[in-house]
Amino acid sequence: MASVDVGGVELTFACPRCAGAVTASIDAVRMLPVLDCPACGQRFGVDLDAFSDRVTEAEVAAKAARRKRRA
Ligand SMILES: [Zn+2]
Repeated sequence: MASVDVGGVELTFACPRCAGAVTASIDAVRMLPVLDCPACGQRFGVDLDAFSDRVTEAEVAAKAARRKRRA
């Protein structure tokens, strides 16, 4: 299956301590699935199952956008 590059797509993750939004690119989370909350400083691990689902969603969206551009 041909894949699209979604590494630069940014996702937001909820901080488990303050529920603040933490933004990170897919590539960054693939490299290191640990984020630091800029609001409270909490360091937390990304839920990789949920992350995987969101990567799939981003790929589907990117493919749809590519088809749209070609049409
Ligand atoms: Zn926080």
